[in-house]
Amino acid sequence: MADYYETLGVDRNASDDEIKKAYRKLSRKYHPDIAGPEFEDKFKEVNNAYDVLSNPDKRRMYDSGVDPNNPNSGAGGFSGGFGDMGDVFSTFFGSAFGGGSQGPVPRTQPGRDALASASIDLKTAVFGGTAHVKINTFSLCQECGGSGAQGGAQPVTCPDCHGQGFMQKVVRTMLGQMMTSAPCERCEGHGTIITNPCPSCMGHGRVRATRNVGVTVPAGINDNARLRLANQGEVGEGGGAAGDLYIDVRIRADKQFTRDGDDLHCWIQVPMSWAVLGHTLTIDTFDGPQDVTIPAGCQPEDTVTLKGLGVTNIRNNDERGNLVAHVNVLIPTKLNDSERGLIEQFAASHDADASHVSQASRPQTGQKKSGFFSKLKDALS
Ligand SMILES: [Zn+2]
Ligand SMILES: [Zn+2]
Repeated sequence: MADYYETLGVDRNASDDEIKKAYRKLSRKYHPDIAGPEFEDKFKEVNNAYDVLSNPDKRRMYDSGVDPNNPNSGAGGFSGGFGDMGDVFSTFFGSAFGGGSQGPVPRTQPGRDALASASIDLKTAVFGGTAHVKINTFSLCQECGGSGAQGGAQPVTCPDCHGQGFMQKVVRTMLGQMMTSAPCERCEGHGTIITNPCPSCMGHGRVRATRNVGVTVPAGINDNARLRLANQGEVGEGGGAAGDLYIDVRIRADKQFTRDGDDLHCWIQVPMSWAVLGHTLTIDTFDGPQDVTIPAGCQPEDTVTLKGLGVTNIRNNDERGNLVAHVNVLIPTKLNDSERGLIEQFAASHDADASHVSQASRPQTGQKKSGFFSKLKDALS
């Protein structure tokens, strides 16, 4: 490895000024135009030495035993034994002196996505609507508009790393002393420092804040659906573009209706006489009160379907499911004497021949059961 200090004729502890002075003198002395073409190599040597010793990073590297302008020259622990020193060199220094992939870390970073949850009632799921969510996340600092600097000041170049964002340092390895780079501590790798940080965000350009967000819920939304609100998430470091906000939507259980896909189900209690004789009654629906007619001879577990009063189809908003009313026939448990007399009279007239009881392994009400009701019954039993 060439001795650059000797080339410039300076001491190893020479100051930047002494190096500069020595270089000026020698570059004039050996300039081919003055000294003649035979001094061209010497002139190149002087320039190369100055290039290394005038750059603090390269000089430190050179002092540690590696020639930054000629890494394959084999200094100290590098001599011999390794097929391609270039590889080793680039492994250790490639990022700093090679491809330039290492540089200052931008102050402005994109924000992360945020996740929140909202709870809506069943009616909002049926027709769509708005859900309100309270989220606590990073928002843009209003004080500095995200710059992080007080009073609109601009960040200044870091004096430690001169804007590089990283510092070279010497580490001991099995190969000898090596140079490696680490993020500059003073500027945290940004290459710039904010001399007067915004007091509101301490220079981060963002502050934690709670805000209310209104979310449009599409008609027909399913329980546990996840909605996405672009750019409503966390604001990034340095006031960087906000991430997205995701909202998990839960549908609260309803007291009157159960949902099954696009259909709604409810259970209505019907006196035995209505089931026998037929009756028109009014029930609540999400579309307001609706008349329901129980046909004469209605059986327990019969259903009455109100078409189009169910949940809006999420893909086709013109379509809606049905509202299915399940009939629960109430058998009277307390009768006064006159009622008992009437029922006995009815039994004598209607059930006089019912001496033989029909028996079967499955319910024989004569009604086919809706899949949903059977499922529910199974779940309850
Ligand atoms: Zn601020
Ligand atoms: Zn720095």
